[in-house]
Amino acid sequence: MIYFDNVSKIYPDGTVALEGVTFSVKQGEFLSIVGHSGAGKTTLMKLLLGEGDCTSGSVSFDSVDIQKVKMKDMPNLRRRIGVIFQDFRLLPNKTAYENVAFAMEIAGKTDEEIASDVPHVLELVDLSKKMWNFPRQLSGGELQRVAIARAIVNHPDLIIADEPTGNLDPINTYEIVQILKKINDLGTTVILTTHNKGVVEALGKRVITMDHGRVVRDDPNGKYAL
Ligand code: ADP
Repeated sequence: MIYFDNVSKIYPDGTVALEGVTFSVKQGEFLSIVGHSGAGKTTLMKLLLGEGDCTSGSVSFDSVDIQKVKMKDMPNLRRRIGVIFQDFRLLPNKTAYENVAFAMEIAGKTDEEIASDVPHVLELVDLSKKMWNFPRQLSGGELQRVAIARAIVNHPDLIIADEPTGNLDPINTYEIVQILKKINDLGTTVILTTHNKGVVEALGKRVITMDHGRVVRDDPNGKYAL
């Protein structure tokens, strides 16, 4: 599904962010990417989302070279990827329901689809009782659950979760990881970046360790090698 082929990325100021990165991700996999700050994790995610070019090598998504996707076709590719961030990025003046509904409106879904799907995904993340709360009325864990509902509501093929538990306490971290696992069990590919050793060990899934822009370890079952 995803193939990084000998990817290097040098930023204009000369910083080498990635060097000779090669790995692939199969449909339905759950991959964690770990590494110290500055190891290149965010740069990897950005290339996958078509934000910026590789300096050499290529990144492909279902055999399509992301660098060669035309600007006008980019939204179609992006719709296939749901993204979750450490800082949630919800709209503060919209309720949980409206934040999720808004993602469906942008994707051109009908009012009927919105009315039936939004409660369903909010139930999946166990937030049915708080769907009319505004972000300021929700805890960190609840905010991240709304963000997950928003990321999955348009049925993406891939979820990218960039440090999704970075702002959460251990109990909420555990819950978010369980939800991501559930989404993966339902068939969606998940790529997670994290610093959290406990998360990776609890998952027991594949882990790629990055260091100074290189893949230094690719372990099939949850070993954290930092
Ligand atoms: P991580 O997500 O693992 O913390 P990043 O991909 O953000 O790593 O960064 C990898 C390296 O690239 C770091 O040395 C960082 O300082 C550098 N870097 C990231 N973005 C830029 C940029 N826009 N311009 C120059 N250097 C950058």
